[in-house]
Amino acid sequence: MTQTRETVETHYHPASAPDYIPTPMLKKLQLERLRAIVQRAYDNVGLFRRQLDERGLAPSDVTCLDDISRLPFTVKHDLRDNYPFGLFASPMQEVVRLHASSGTTGKPIVVAYTAADVKVWTNVMCRTFSAVGVGPSDIVQNAYGYGLFTGGLGAHYGAEGLGATVIPISGGNTDRQIMVMRDFRVTAICSTPSYFLHLTERAAELGIDMRELLVRVGVFGAEPWTDSMRRHLEACSGIKAYDLYGLSEIVGPGVACECYRQDGLHFFEDHFYPEIIDPQTGDTLPQGEEGELVLTTLSKQAMPMIRYRTRDITAFITAPCACGRTHRRMRRISRRSDDMFIIRGVNVFPSQVETALLQVEGTLPHYQIILTRQKGLDEMEVQVEVTAEIFSDKIGALEQFEARLMDSLERVLGIRVAVRLVEPHSIQRSEGKAKRIIDKRNA
Ligand SMILES: [Zn+2]
Repeated sequence: MTQTRETVETHYHPASAPDYIPTPMLKKLQLERLRAIVQRAYDNVGLFRRQLDERGLAPSDVTCLDDISRLPFTVKHDLRDNYPFGLFASPMQEVVRLHASSGTTGKPIVVAYTAADVKVWTNVMCRTFSAVGVGPSDIVQNAYGYGLFTGGLGAHYGAEGLGATVIPISGGNTDRQIMVMRDFRVTAICSTPSYFLHLTERAAELGIDMRELLVRVGVFGAEPWTDSMRRHLEACSGIKAYDLYGLSEIVGPGVACECYRQDGLHFFEDHFYPEIIDPQTGDTLPQGEEGELVLTTLSKQAMPMIRYRTRDITAFITAPCACGRTHRRMRRISRRSDDMFIIRGVNVFPSQVETALLQVEGTLPHYQIILTRQKGLDEMEVQVEVTAEIFSDKIGALEQFEARLMDSLERVLGIRVAVRLVEPHSIQRSEGKAKRIIDKRNA
């Protein structure tokens, strides 16, 4: 069974060599790079120098990898407070690229790259594509947004660096995407998972069965998605769906990715050093325990990040991976502590809602969570699309179906919440990241 997938590894690209570096050598390299990056940040970034001085620490105090836990964290508001260029460690004449996050409130955060940084980024994205079996003979449709968002150019450079053929189609214009996918004989696609789902559904409406096209690999990221969603995507499109992880603050896409085994994401540890901490105390957690992912860039010149708190919740997978890569893996991120909301005293993550809904046959993975406050009490309603067959059922049957969903949600969340069934296509589709929560509590 694994025979066909193993042959995927014959696409091995020389850029992937560092993926297999023996652990003692990797650790030695990490320590060398960590010491250099701490020195670089201390010499060039005012905020970091002040934080180290306040603690009475010098860059030379980092003598082993564990010493990283003595260093201060960097958090998102540090980037906002130093908008736009306050955390740069390179003079502007060495900076060749700026990107910015799509900040939902106020100013975006700005990130910078030197030519060497772009090279590293290209390298880790080459290794990403290679890990999921994309090679020079592939035709890659890149439906990540191009522009200030890092997704488009990150995937573009990686696939092109690998020698694959890239179609820089960017997001949007769904019908044209489907035409290109078919006519250009596309074999691999990059997008958010929710947009790929939309593409598959739209193709079906146009009478095109995605399973009959040549697309065999999807590299999906930029939003949390569950294994239930993966199974759904794979079943309705016939592709293998892989998870890609990254964030602009660190490099963009390419911080970690799944290999062909689809069993956790390997970090590119020669460039990004991961830690898992207790989000409450900030203490480093024992290997395998779930907590917040913290990342340090080991080679970034223009904007080094020391111990950046990602707000993403995950855990290290301690067992070695059968693919032979030596770099550590993390469990898929299906939760961001930023996405968490509290309803009647219970912590709820959108991914829990997704899991509960997809456990019941007949639901489509399009849903929205509406939060309201009525007479001082928080109310939560889950609106979910159901298949046309279910929706055309008799009223009594619909009520029964609704009750089954409420039960499933109660089992997962521990509280009873309202469910409203809606027709297929009534929830707005996104061309980028899906909007799962509509919070009207303070409206
Ligand atoms: Zn692996």
